[in-house]
Parts: sequence; structure tokens; C-alpha cells
Amino acid sequence: MSEQAAKKLEHENETAILKPIVSYKNVSKSFGETTVLKNLDLDVAKGEKIALIGPSGSGKTTIIRMLMTLEEPTSGTIEVDGEMLWHKYDGDQLVPADEKHLRKVRGNIGMVFQQYNLFPHMTILKNCTVAPINVLGISKEEATERAKEMLEKVGLADKMENYPSQLSGGQQQRVAIARSLVMQPKVMLFDEVTAALDPELVGEVLEVIKDIAADGETTMILITHEIDFARDVADRVFFLDAGKIAEYGKPEDVLENPESERLQSFLSRFN
Ligand code: ADP
Repeated sequence: MSEQAAKKLEHENETAILKPIVSYKNVSKSFGETTVLKNLDLDVAKGEKIALIGPSGSGKTTIIRMLMTLEEPTSGTIEVDGEMLWHKYDGDQLVPADEKHLRKVRGNIGMVFQQYNLFPHMTILKNCTVAPINVLGISKEEATERAKEMLEKVGLADKMENYPSQLSGGQQQRVAIARSLVMQPKVMLFDEVTAALDPELVGEVLEVIKDIAADGETTMILITHEIDFARDVADRVFFLDAGKIAEYGKPEDVLENPESERLQSFLSRFN
């Protein structure tokens, strides 16, 4: 890399750190009497990959459901790419966001769940083009081109004319990932995408996610129980415990040298 290119990269990295693409500030979330997230502060830099690990019920899914605007924080603010999620500025005044604003911020985010929910009556290709045509308003030709590129990326170019029922669970999940990428989101959320798969199908899906991560550009937030995968793919790992970030840092620190007894005991389950 030339000195100039290195300087530019360094500058971009510094700017990314100064201006995160995802930022939670003092976010708390309660359901009725139960507080499930407490004063969460979390910044994710552009292009960064973070993994959220922790016991069931610790608040991981709630963190990303708020980013999808599926849940509203009880207090605190969340920003994606400089836009607040639940509020917007009207002049100097902070006012509740309207549906148009929410649609816009949602457009920056792609999500893949455990359940891939492909449309059973549509071919794999059509599954990947229907949203970009209808939601982004791009032409059928462009949507098809993007979809083919992404299906190739997930290794399913030869299945485009098949229907979901003709594919294995792992292949269907790879289609779901391609379908999400076709929308060109700035941030991709993966919520335990391999949890519903037979063990022998897990590897192929994780490999696809690793390939996408290696491309570098997409910011990723991954909830996973696959500790080796988290170590391989994440720049930072966050251990959630009872609605708080209990430990975080580089995978080699958090996963190899956990400080708290809670994390040590959590990780021992995977050995
Ligand atoms: P995790 O993803 O770490 O398993 P969740 O974010 O799904 O944790 O859940 C955190 C806690 O919030 C759990 O105790 C769960 O029961 C509770 N919870 C999540 N969603 C709701 C809801 N809609 N209503 C009531 N409680 C909820």
C-alpha cells in the first residue's frame, strides 16, 4: 500500500471511530416492570463486525430489535448513520419520528433471523428481487443483476430457478442472506442464524457469513452461540449478562482470558 493510501485509510479509520455508524447512548428497555437492558452504551464503527454473546434472556435480541425499530427504547437514544431512530429534528426541536423517517432509517439495515421465511411459491431468484423492486423501486433488470451477484456470492447461482422446498435448510438460509444483501444495507444484523439448522448444515452458513465479512465494507452485528465463529469473524466481542455489557474487547482477550466468573462459566459450556 502506498504511503498516501495508508494515510487515507488511517484517516478513514479515525473518522469511523469518531463517528460510529451505529450508536446506542444510555439506552434502557423495560417490558412492564421488567428491565431487560440497563444504560447500554455501544458504538459500532463503519465496517466493524461485532459479536454479541451471552446467556439466553440477557438482552441480545432486544438490542438488535431496537435497531430494526421493532422495539422502542424506554429511554436513551439510538443513531444509525447519523440519523436518530425514534426522533428527528424539526428545526431545533426534537420531535417523534414519523413513519417516513422510520422507513428511511430502516432502509439502512438488513436482518437475517433463525427462521428464513422465504416465499414458498416464488423461485429463489424472485425471492431475492421482489423487495428491491417493490421497496427500493429499482428496475427488474437491475434487481436481477444484483440478485445473481449475491446468489453467486453465497454459492447458489445454480439454484436460481428452484423453489425453496427443493433446497436444504442451510441453502435456504444462504438465500435469506443473499436476499438481505441485495438491499445493500449499511448494517447487517444476524440473529442466531444457525440455531434452527441441523448440525451438519451450520458450517456452510457460517462460511458464507465469513466470506461476506472478509469483503470488509458491511458493518455487522452478530448474535451467536458459535464461539469459534465469533472469534474468527468479529473485531470485538461483547458479553451480555442480565441486560448489561459485562465484558467486551478483542476476541482473543474476551474469549481466551475472560475476567469475570460469569463469563468464564458461560464459556466453559462450549468447551
Ligand atoms: P436474548 O436474545 O439474550 O436471549 P432477549 O433480548 O430476547 O434476550 O430477551 C431479554 C429479556 O426480555 C428476556 O427476559 C425476555 O423474556 C424479555 N422480553 C423480550 N421481549 C419481550 C416482550 N415483548 N415482552 C416481555 N418481555 C420480553
